[in-house]
Amino acid sequence: MERGRPDLRGPGETFYDTDDAGSIGDSRWRAAGRRGRLAGRLLRSAAMLGFEVLKTDPTSRARRGRLTTPHGEIETPVFMPVGTRAAVKGITPDQVVATGTRIILGNTYHLQLRPGAELIEELGGLHRFMGWSGPMLTDSGGYQVFSLSELVEIDDDGVSFRSPVDGARMRLTPESATAIQNRLGADIIMCFDQCPPHPCEREAIEVAVDRSVRWAWRCKEAHGRPEEQWLFGINQGGVHADLRRMCAERLAEVDLPGCAIGGLSVGESHEEMMEVVEDLCPRLPADRPRYLMGVGMPRDIVAAVLRGVDMFDCVLPTRNGRNAYAFTATGPVRLRNHQYLRDEAPLEAGCDCMTCVGHSRAYLRHLFMTGEMLGPILVSIHNLRFYQRLTARLRDLIEAGCAARIMDEFPVAAAREDTDEESHS
Ligand SMILES: [Zn+2]
Repeated sequence: MERGRPDLRGPGETFYDTDDAGSIGDSRWRAAGRRGRLAGRLLRSAAMLGFEVLKTDPTSRARRGRLTTPHGEIETPVFMPVGTRAAVKGITPDQVVATGTRIILGNTYHLQLRPGAELIEELGGLHRFMGWSGPMLTDSGGYQVFSLSELVEIDDDGVSFRSPVDGARMRLTPESATAIQNRLGADIIMCFDQCPPHPCEREAIEVAVDRSVRWAWRCKEAHGRPEEQWLFGINQGGVHADLRRMCAERLAEVDLPGCAIGGLSVGESHEEMMEVVEDLCPRLPADRPRYLMGVGMPRDIVAAVLRGVDMFDCVLPTRNGRNAYAFTATGPVRLRNHQYLRDEAPLEAGCDCMTCVGHSRAYLRHLFMTGEMLGPILVSIHNLRFYQRLTARLRDLIEAGCAARIMDEFPVAAAREDTDEESHS
């Protein structure tokens, strides 16, 4: 599984050196990018990766930023739909782009199980394989190993587990998880970390924090394409402020270009989650993007943006969409409900997505009641557009210096809104 790549960084070079991007270029990977609409950016030889805070909101800690990647620029705060197995379920890349999405996420764990990173690399990398020409992020697989695998054995070197596909014994280490992500070729890749469950004994979380920091050093050392892929560190520590702070201090020494907050949205309350985010954000480097992993509901996203988070991913818009659950600014619409039998209104008044422009609630309900596959597709499209409208409006309001006004325009962000759905894949 492991394949070492030479570390092309010279003595004294830092992670941010981006002026030598051509030296490890994979011609197929580049050819794949040239076919895309963002192709021109690939040819730039300098400053392929960067982050800039453009504006901070005077009434909160919210920030407007811009991430530059080899596959295009991303305006932040940003929501990233999840394309677990090299597909945003049921939706074509063009349809994903039409929702306003600029960056999507792929799951290393699932892609390594099937079809395997070697095959994806052979076929030109993940961008080309799935026909997505924009920016992309892959997670390290750590979260899925711990949440989806059987017979998981963790030691200081890595994690062994049984493949849920064929029962084969598998192993991921910081080195192999990084090498797999180098092969997949996403613009942003993640450190392999240990995500403890919730609730969890404090002692076990301490071990996970220590291990995650030491693994972050090993991921950085193993990273073979630092000029083309940004490696983000992941903060762990459960809901313990002191552990989170210590983790942040130790990760600052690793000096990675982005800071993720992991181990949340695993069962803790909204209030517990926000306590962590509020305490942690001011302790993260101000000049680097902050990514709250696997979060979440609209009000989680809004609350975290107001506390200084820049990036989000979550399966909720697509997973709930497949289950007839539509997000709107005023709360969920559950389309199987009888009340929509003759409802000729669009899913959400004022929404400009293809679902709302072309179809009624009555029709969408009919699709779900008859099991037509178009139902999940159309509601997933609307839900993704809803998340992109929400984050776009947040960006506008931060620019205008009044981010908290989002609560007036999207009352769902202020209301407690429970869901039965899991928020992780
Ligand atoms: Zn819509």
